[in-house]
Formats: sequence, structure tokens, C-alpha cells
Amino acid sequence: MSQDLLIFERGAPGRRCVTFPDAGAIPVPIPESMRRDQAPALPEVSELEMVRHYVGLSTMNFSIDTVFYPLGSCTMKYNPKVHEWAARVPEIGGLHPLSEAGGPALEVIWEMEQILKAVSGMDGFTFQPAAGAQGEFVGISLIAAYHRARGNQKKVVLIPDSAHGTNPATAAMCGYTITAIQSTDRGTVDVEDLKAHMNDEVAALMLTNPNTFGVFEDEILEIAEVVHGGGGLLYYDGANLNAFLGQCRPGDMGFDVVHINLHKTFTTPHGGGGPGSGPVGVKEALFPYLPTPVVVKGEDGFWLDFDRPETIGKVSTFYGNFGMVIRAFVYAKMLGAEGMRRTSEMAVLNANYIAKQLDPYYDRPKQAQPMHEVVFSASRQKKEHGVNATDIAKRLIDYGMHPPTIYFPLPNVAPETMLIEPTETESREQIEVFVEAMIQIAREAGDDPDLLHNAPHNTPVRRLDEATAARKPVLRWRPDSE
Ligand SMILES: *Cc1c(COP(=O)(O)O)cnc(C)c1O
Repeated sequence: MSQDLLIFERGAPGRRCVTFPDAGAIPVPIPESMRRDQAPALPEVSELEMVRHYVGLSTMNFSIDTVFYPLGSCTMKYNPKVHEWAARVPEIGGLHPLSEAGGPALEVIWEMEQILKAVSGMDGFTFQPAAGAQGEFVGISLIAAYHRARGNQKKVVLIPDSAHGTNPATAAMCGYTITAIQSTDRGTVDVEDLKAHMNDEVAALMLTNPNTFGVFEDEILEIAEVVHGGGGLLYYDGANLNAFLGQCRPGDMGFDVVHINLHKTFTTPHGGGGPGSGPVGVKEALFPYLPTPVVVKGEDGFWLDFDRPETIGKVSTFYGNFGMVIRAFVYAKMLGAEGMRRTSEMAVLNANYIAKQLDPYYDRPKQAQPMHEVVFSASRQKKEHGVNATDIAKRLIDYGMHPPTIYFPLPNVAPETMLIEPTETESREQIEVFVEAMIQIAREAGDDPDLLHNAPHNTPVRRLDEATAARKPVLRWRPDSE
């Protein structure tokens, strides 16, 4: 879109969308000294100019509804529109959280809990956390409460070097020191390194499986034995359950606490900061510490139990983002057990198809078979042509696709990483369009590296200074006169 269609500077003095009737003189109880002496310099536009402004802005962003979005670890799968209908049905969307008619809402939460229990192998869930990161905070707080109740002041949380950044951030927020555990060349946890760091100061190991190399931790049973044997608990970062759905369960692998991102695996929308939902599941031994209130099924229906003396307390208003529970519930009911199994099969198949197709063109830092996402590296392109993962990601935008996650897993673990997660909702044809673009970009890296260095070429704004944009965001338009 060309710059002249950005319409903040459009309009003319006196132009209006609406004209209000003259209300006459209204007494204003604001002291004279605090009133502005000039009218604010707001844009004055017609309705059409305003519509073009907002519709124009909406087309300048990437979304899963418009383009392929292989942002690894984020699971940008399609959000079925029937969810939006369900969440907006007046009897649901308009329900006040304190209303007497809230019983059916509690029933939905309880039903969804049964579904997550079946999927994960855990014994009970709370739906209060509003994101995966908050779920982690709740989960590690539960583990801290568990150890405290047994008179153990543990100090350390073990986290593999491939972990999502929220894991160490969570452990630190809960007051633990963090010890990183190395990955093997296959991309899995180095069990010998784990054994070397296991001692009675360790509260927990936080593990993602498949981990962020997209690799299944096939030594998980031994890992669980090592951690439990040393008096620690096992935390499962299940933000992304896409490879496990209907196949296997963290609860059967020895995990004591899990969080699941409904806004990833269960197709509720995410991005833009939420609202999300990161329910936390626990084994029975951690029941007493769950946040209050807990939804209980009694003889006369469903009710909220606030009487829980050992609870870690309340972590969210009311019961979390209930609209997300509705969306996930509809999704789970539509799929059923068989549909969930198909979902994970297709997610894994799609990622492996990409892995096979791109193997001749890009290096893969870890060699174990990928599950639902695959990590490539731009190290060959960097060495031979001076083109890095950022250049490749930016060039993909010119091909009309969202870039994969880059530099995660982190550069100290593997160089120039590109984490690609197609999800199960993409067609084979779309995946082939992506593969073709990546192959074309690999060729361009050799033929014309500057084409990549200067990408993207077709966007309203070109290459951004992303660090400054994140640290000093300019979120407000100001008229020249201010
Ligand atoms: C997305 C993600 C998280 C954090 O979830 P949020 O809802 O973004 O807070 C944690 N761990 C992993 C592995 C993730 O992919």
C-alpha cells in the first residue's frame, strides 16, 4: 500500500462524519485554569475517509485469516468461526459472572475440565490463568506450595537450554534460581547432565515435549525417574499440545503439573496480547493448592468451592477468560477423540513434509525426527552468501507469507534458527507454495544477496528497527501543530 493512502493527514477543517444537534450552553464543572483554550487538533474527516483509514490499517497486518503463518511454537492454526458465534450467543456472552443463571457456565467449565483431564492424563484443572505464562506462574507456585507444606525449602528449578523464555522467567518470578540443562545433538535433554545437576535443592524440572526443537523427549520416563528420585516434581509446558493430542499424555509420562494453551492447541484466537487461556492441570497430590474458587459438581448441580485453606489464592478475576473456554469446548466437541487424533497426525505430517522438502536447501541443527514443528538454520546461507535468518524471514514477507519464528531456539544453542510450524489446518497445496518460496529464497541468497538484505520490498514500511520499535514504541499519532 502506498504512503498516500495512510490517511492520518487526510481531511479538512470542518469535515465531519456526524453532526450533533446544538446542545446549547452546558455548565462545565472544571476550573478555568484547567481548561484548554484551543480545540484539540483532531483529524476532521468524512465517514468514507474514516472507513478507508481503518480498513486500510486492517489490511496492513498479517493474520491467520489472510495468509500462511508458520510461526513456530505459536501454533497459528485456523480459528473456526463457529466459536465466535458460540461465544456471542446472548445467553452466554451476556452472562454476568455473579448471576444466579451462572450454573450452566460452571457446567461448561466442569465439562471442559473432564475433556482436558482425558487429553492430558491429569487429575484436575483450574481455568483461571489468562495465558501460558500465567499458567506457568500458577504451576510453579503450586509446586512451591507443595514443597513448603512438606517442610522443604527448595531453591532451584532445572530448565533445558532449548526452553521457551517464559520458563526461566517464571521460575525466577517464583523466587527460584535456574540451572540450564544441556541438549544433545539430537535436540533432546542430556540425561547425564540432568543427573549431574539433580539434588535435594531442586524443586522441579520444567520441560516442553516435544521440545522447542520440535523433538520428542524419548527418554522422558528415565527423566521422570531421575527428578522424582531426587525429590523434585515435573512441570510440563504444554503450551503446544499439537503433537500429543489423542496420541499420548503428559500425565502418563510422570508430569505432576501441566499448563495447556487453549489459544494454541484448542484454536481459540491469540495474538495482540490476548485474551488467552492457560489452564493448569495437576495430579491429586497438588489439589489442595489450586487457586480458588474451584468448580465442583454436587448433588444439586454445580457450585464454586471457596473453602480451601491451603490454596495459593486467586490469580484472576472470576474464573478466567470464560469466552475462551466456550470456544475450546465447541472445538473439542466438534472434533471428538477421533478428530483430535487426526489433528495431531496431520500437524506432524505437515511439519515432516516441510522438513523433507527443505532438507536439501537449509541446514538442520538437530537431527532427530521433528514432530509438529521443525527447526532449520540459515548457517549455510550466512557462511556462503552473508545472508542471515532475518534476511530470509523478511524476504518471505514479499512472498505474501508470515515469517517463521527466528533466533529461537536461541543462538547459544543453535545458530540462525528458523522454527517452522505449519499446523494441521493448512492444505498440502498451501504448504507447497511455502516450500517453493523457501527454495526460491535459497536461490536468491546465492544470486542476489542484497535482494534479501533489503527485504521486504512490498510492505507499507520496510525493514524496521525492531529493538527500538519494541523498547520505544510510538503508539500515538500527533498532529504537526502539537
Ligand atoms: C507460547 C508458549 C508459552 C507462553 O504462552 P503465552 O500464552 O504466550 O503466555 C510458553 N511455552 C511455550 C513452549 C510456548 O510456545
